[in-house]
Amino acid sequence: MEPYRVGILGATGLVGQRLVQRLTGHPWFDLVAVAASERSERRPYGEAASWRLSDAPPSRVAALPVRGCRVEELDDCDVVLSALDADVAREVEPRFADAGFAVISNSSAFREHERVPLIVPEVNASHTELLDPAARGPLVTNPNCSTTGLVLVLAPLHRAFGIRRVVVATLQAVSGAGLAGPRALDLLDNVLPFIPGEEEKLESEMGKILGSVDGGILRRADLAVSAHCHRVPTLDGHLEAVSIECSRTVDPEEAVATLEAFRGDTQADELPSGTARPIVVRREADRPQPRLDRDTERGMAAVVGRVRRCPVLGLKLELLSHNTVRGAAGGTLLNAELLAARGLLPRRSRA
Ligand code: NAP
Repeated sequence: MEPYRVGILGATGLVGQRLVQRLTGHPWFDLVAVAASERSERRPYGEAASWRLSDAPPSRVAALPVRGCRVEELDDCDVVLSALDADVAREVEPRFADAGFAVISNSSAFREHERVPLIVPEVNASHTELLDPAARGPLVTNPNCSTTGLVLVLAPLHRAFGIRRVVVATLQAVSGAGLAGPRALDLLDNVLPFIPGEEEKLESEMGKILGSVDGGILRRADLAVSAHCHRVPTLDGHLEAVSIECSRTVDPEEAVATLEAFRGDTQADELPSGTARPIVVRREADRPQPRLDRDTERGMAAVVGRVRRCPVLGLKLELLSHNTVRGAAGGTLLNAELLAARGLLPRRSRA
């Protein structure tokens, strides 16, 4: 297959950098354009991006001049992967979709739109049915970084046992706040018990992802989620403590067997960013831990541990997922790959 020509919107940010890293050597996608704000425009990417990953960007990408996030500037691309802040994405992404680009977004701007699928491919790949057939370019989103790990773990339990209620407390890494995240002075020796908008996203996105789509209409899943979100001084990897009420009593070993058997709905698609084990269960009493477990399955797995009885809701566990990989760049790429594998990723005709 001839590779798709891909551009990144918000390429200089933390998620944009992960996208650059994970597009290196990608078999289906060729990164041809990096775009960001006026602050970065026209500068070489390697100079404009305040690079935060251990391996440097490829020299070819470092030399690319940063473009503006405007349709005419990315005319040589088929697909744009968006890592823009929501308020910018709200303006910019529809312009690209209206011009016939496939827009695979990471921002929250359109996650709740009725014609925009909110996809974690292993869980709800069939939600591509929500795409408006009359739209020029498809617009698809991935969830909030804490939602992604949680929904990966809840999906098989919901299918097997019918989840009614969930209470989750998150311990979210500082990279989740982007390059302009909290100052060291506020976060070292501290925990911030408030992340603006985060609890609302976790509570709402779950019902959409676990819902069903029939005839292009979404029916949200009927489960209640209560979230407590905290910013903690880890670099990468969101840890979540979860209590779950199912429609019947679930033995912890039964839950573990269900989680370990989960392969997701996209194994046959052989997506390059996919993994054979979207959920990895650890048996040690003190795992998962962010530093030790966030890179499991190249950062694409939700790592679960301490599956046990909850005296209030029945079942409880800990889970960890890499926020800028599984919860952001890796999830965005997986969505782009899903669309490509299923013939839903158009190529733009160029003059
Ligand atoms: P970030 O580090 O702050 O990066 C923001 C990017 O947007 C930069 O490339 C910035 O370019 C660009 N930008 C800002 N204002 C712009 C404008 N007016 N026009 C064009 N480009 C503009 O943020 P991030 O952490 O990468 O997050 C990006 C998006 O992903 C957000 O919507 C966030 O909610 C979402 N997300 C983040 C995570 C995570 O773990 N970090 C996880 C899931 C989802 P300049 O460098 O030129 O300013």
